[in-house]
Amino acid sequence: MAASTPTDLPFLPFALPEIGEAEIAEVVDTLRSGWVTTGPKARRFEADFAAFLAASTGEDPAGLHCIAVNSATAGLHLALEALGIGPGDEVITTTHTFTATAEVVRYLGADVRLVDCDPVTLNIDPALIEAAITPKTKAILPVHYAGLAADMPAIHAIAARHGLQVVEDAAHALPTTCGGRLVGTLDSAATVFSFYANKTMTTGEGGMLVTRDADVAARAKVMRLHGISRDAFDRFTAKVPSWYYEIVAPGFKYNLTDIAAALGIHQLPRAHGFQQRRAEIAAAFHAGLADLPLILPADAPAGERHAWHLYPVRVRPEAGLGRDTLIERLFAAGIGCSVHYIPLHRQPYWRERYALTPGQFPHSEAAYQAMLSLPIYTRMTDADVQRVLDALRAALRA
Ligand SMILES: *Cc1c(COP(=O)(O)O)cnc(C)c1O
Repeated sequence: MAASTPTDLPFLPFALPEIGEAEIAEVVDTLRSGWVTTGPKARRFEADFAAFLAASTGEDPAGLHCIAVNSATAGLHLALEALGIGPGDEVITTTHTFTATAEVVRYLGADVRLVDCDPVTLNIDPALIEAAITPKTKAILPVHYAGLAADMPAIHAIAARHGLQVVEDAAHALPTTCGGRLVGTLDSAATVFSFYANKTMTTGEGGMLVTRDADVAARAKVMRLHGISRDAFDRFTAKVPSWYYEIVAPGFKYNLTDIAAALGIHQLPRAHGFQQRRAEIAAAFHAGLADLPLILPADAPAGERHAWHLYPVRVRPEAGLGRDTLIERLFAAGIGCSVHYIPLHRQPYWRERYALTPGQFPHSEAAYQAMLSLPIYTRMTDADVQRVLDALRAALRA
């Protein structure tokens, strides 16, 4: 292994953002402008985001309400709150996700019903959603795992049959398509994107709640900023000086700053280009790893787009070594990896609250035991990609 483990190369991190000069200049412009919190740049980012999504369907962007928030977690919380989810309600989601997907349900005092994933795509299994529905179920919260669309036609059909809301956790899914439309334009009550540092585009921290429902949009806007009613504000500003406002609910502090939006304004037009580079790297991984004892991640169906936020591989039993050893060897070779995810059923909070056991989630559990995520990001050079391939091959042979 030593011969193929170059130690003179710098460590290749698991993820790095790609921030260009235009982003930097826009942030500087914001800093010099005198307006650093939510203002004109956040509004422009929202309008640009609606136009970006609407371009995939040819619809009027005015019908897509885009609400910039300071994280996807905040956006998911606002979406469920606006839909009236509360104590006594249940929301069905996948165990194979990050805790943010599920924690927002608990913020509202509702309960989470975790179900297993499909063994191939690792996306939520629609058949298990149907089996988990109870009279308390109010919503389904699918995740587009790794950037591959969940089976949204099946999920929307179940939701329609049972009168449930659908909120998509699209933290990995910019830009992902489903039926040729970008995620964000499907027939869900709301869709939420993340611009966290390691996502497919970033504002450092940030997120976007997208909905076609004007009532959901209005409520989310009020709750995004302390429960200040914009309607009341607008209504009264015409008649009295601008110090007047009305609080209609105990809202949150979830607004996106203009400093962050300045990054988003220039990241968004690059999103399709970023996706192309990620897809190129995924194709190189597919080709370079095909003969190794690994299960490679599922591709998007023909004609659809995978955002390739993650490239998770699973070690087959015949490899003769475990995932932990493989990660250690890659680390020794200067390559950062991660695991997506330690499933929620294994986390003490979720396990204890709902008395969960690994046996209830055989597919997620098996995937978790065998999986590691390889670095996949636009700043990786072809040489970086080759280095990952060589190191993985060497580590499996050692
Ligand atoms: C990153 C992530 C989130 C949370 O995003 P933030 O913007 O960090 O709040 C939610 N769900 C999934 C699946 C994620 O990967």
